[in-house]
Amino acid sequence: MSRVSIMGVEFDAISKAEAVGRAMEQIRQKRKGYVVTPNSEIVYMAKDDPELIDLLNQASLVLPDGVGILHAAKILNKPIYEKVAGVEFAVDLIAEMAREHRSLYLLGAKPGVARKAAENLVKRFPGLKISGCQDGYFTDEQEVIDRINASGHTDVVFVCLGAPKQEQFIRRHLQEIDATLFCGLGGSLDIYAGTAQRAPAFYVDHGLEWLYRLKQEPWRAKRMTKLPLFLLCAVKCKITGKETP
Ligand code: UDP
Repeated sequence: MSRVSIMGVEFDAISKAEAVGRAMEQIRQKRKGYVVTPNSEIVYMAKDDPELIDLLNQASLVLPDGVGILHAAKILNKPIYEKVAGVEFAVDLIAEMAREHRSLYLLGAKPGVARKAAENLVKRFPGLKISGCQDGYFTDEQEVIDRINASGHTDVVFVCLGAPKQEQFIRRHLQEIDATLFCGLGGSLDIYAGTAQRAPAFYVDHGLEWLYRLKQEPWRAKRMTKLPLFLLCAVKCKITGKETP
């Protein structure tokens, strides 16, 4: 399957439904792997970090999370037309998993959040099996890995520690954790638990989700300055004809 490179990060330019279909196939075949959903901040960070680029590109699915990626694709004449937000991809994946009574381990967020997210998800998708929950503020990684493995094979682990921490955790422990598919999903557990809200439709439809988040979490302002810088890099690539700025 061909991928579309934005500053070296190779995205799967597929719809959310196709992404879920491919993830389910991987789960059924027990093919170990992971899903990443980079936004413009991460691509901006990765462009100068070959190790991070490699980590993202080795994923089974690289989904464009955020309008910033779509804007850059437009500037660079690359065929990425649909944003696939990690939090939405994951909900659709859970719906499919529930139909087949698949198991999910939730790892990340503040204490109590993963448990609350699990409760809400099981209520919404009754066939889903939760194999365990663990907050994301641990010091002993080995203890966490042992705990996940103690629950037996799990089909999927949501790793929600923020990027790139979650991707690095997945790379370190992919082989030793008894699970098929790992998904790095940032703040998704907070959304499923109801401790954070997604932007209302107006913001999402107008590509202004970042503005809503900025209102909710003003401390993000510094991180968000990366978005215009990222788009400037795209313009630079366009002018110079180079893959990276
Ligand atoms: N988090 C965590 N452990 C950490 C740092 C962060 O579990 O050491 C959680 C945090 O509580 C939040 C998520 O990781 O639930 C990061 O969310 P954010 O929306 O910042 O993710 P990103 O924008 O990086 O995808």
